[in-house]
Amino acid sequence: MQPSPADGGVALLHRANCGLYTKEIGCLSATEGQIAMAAPGIEPCQVCRPQD
Ligand SMILES: [Zn+2]
Repeated sequence: MQPSPADGGVALLHRANCGLYTKEIGCLSATEGQIAMAAPGIEPCQVCRPQD
């Protein structure tokens, strides 16, 4: 699993129903999302807050 970094080298992780999600990382399961957020260069979206 290697999400492509977005602008600034940081990829945002979204909930699947977030309007801002990117197709590269928008289809992860909850478990995969938690793994992704632990990876460098990936931050949770501040709109849909997938970490909550
Ligand atoms: Zn989002």
